[in-house]
Amino acid sequence: MYRIAVAFVLGSIVGLAVGSPAQRLQPLGDLFVRLLEMIIVPIIIFTLIMAARELSPANLGKIGGQVVCLYLATTAVAIAIGLGVSNLIEPGSSVTLTSGSVNTQQAPPLGEQLFSIVPTNPISAMAEGNILAIIFFTLVFGLGMTIVRAEAEPDSAVRSGIDTLFETAEAGAEVMFKIVWGIMEYGVIGVFALMASLFGEIGIEALRAYALLAFSLAFAISLQISIVYLLVILRGLVGASPLAFLRGVKEAMVTALSIRSSSGTLPVSMSNADENLRIDDGVYGFSLPLGATINMDGTAMYLGIVAVFAANIADVSLTLAQQFSILATALLASIGTAGVPSASLVMMTAVLTQVGLPLEVIAMIAGIDPLLDRLRTMNNVVGDLAVSTVVGKWNDAIDLTAGVWVDDPSEGGSVPSETPTD
Ligand code: ASP
Repeated sequence: MYRIAVAFVLGSIVGLAVGSPAQRLQPLGDLFVRLLEMIIVPIIIFTLIMAARELSPANLGKIGGQVVCLYLATTAVAIAIGLGVSNLIEPGSSVTLTSGSVNTQQAPPLGEQLFSIVPTNPISAMAEGNILAIIFFTLVFGLGMTIVRAEAEPDSAVRSGIDTLFETAEAGAEVMFKIVWGIMEYGVIGVFALMASLFGEIGIEALRAYALLAFSLAFAISLQISIVYLLVILRGLVGASPLAFLRGVKEAMVTALSIRSSSGTLPVSMSNADENLRIDDGVYGFSLPLGATINMDGTAMYLGIVAVFAANIADVSLTLAQQFSILATALLASIGTAGVPSASLVMMTAVLTQVGLPLEVIAMIAGIDPLLDRLRTMNNVVGDLAVSTVVGKWNDAIDLTAGVWVDDPSEGGSVPSETPTD
């Protein structure tokens, strides 16, 4: 689906050329976002039930442990890269502090968030789109199905009822992927509209004022993607072609860049993992919804970069101990950040307060956030997919002889990809 990438570039050019009238296209983009949001809850439920069919509690523990450890490790590396790059580039050193109204909304404490993973009412968790609570309930329900099925008599009504439920979930997931395909067809218009509206809104001036900040983030993200995901994870741990991986996840990347939401991109990431990367639903059905909520490498990295930016503006030099404390706070804050547009502006209060930096910085960068948010959301989504790929490999739950893996010119393959979105 190169059309969507072309739409992305053309939309950006039109936005810069036309200026603020391009913002009138926003509703066309909002429609794209709504369509994706519409299917987040059903797609998670169907694929997680399918995942539960393949996961014994022991397997779930093993895969879950690997996923969570890798999520934490990649996020810590991302923050270290962000701090390293921003210490080098020093964004903010030529900017003076302007006071503006600050969003002092406090981030909810992590303990409270952990507690809310267990829903008191699963239906209201679904209605509210509380992804962690939905994951928890669906997994418990799916595991319950597996256990009851194993205990039931072979020809009993209970066993056939559960088989029907599993088949229904499988059919439901297939239908959802078809709907994703349809939404991505409209996405060509949606992405064009979103990008035109963005650049129509922020214009070239804001870009100039915050060029170093944007450059630091873009540079750090390109290091994270090329070294951590492509070189270490794809080439090193999976032993597969990084280019094939990138081709396999491009729709998810462009969608994340366009809609600024990891959760909103989830249906597309799942479709890419299933159809292109050929990861088993037993892995991605669990790892991707979890990643969209807790694994935010781009966000964590950005929190670190903004801390250095704020220190430069305030003319404070950060000690090594302070940088470590930024790393720890940014790691926790990124886990607590919701996968929705500009969510990290709220979490930033925690990081800046931790090291006593001025919160006014948040007001200063809020104007450029619609642009920076896209970059970090794209990084967040690619991180989830890279970790899912290696966990798939470790658990024999990925088919590296099909999908996008055999369609890589640099690897000499010749079988065409079956990507439905191409
Ligand atoms: N928009 C980001 C996401 O959905 C979160 C953030 O960094 O604001 O992944």
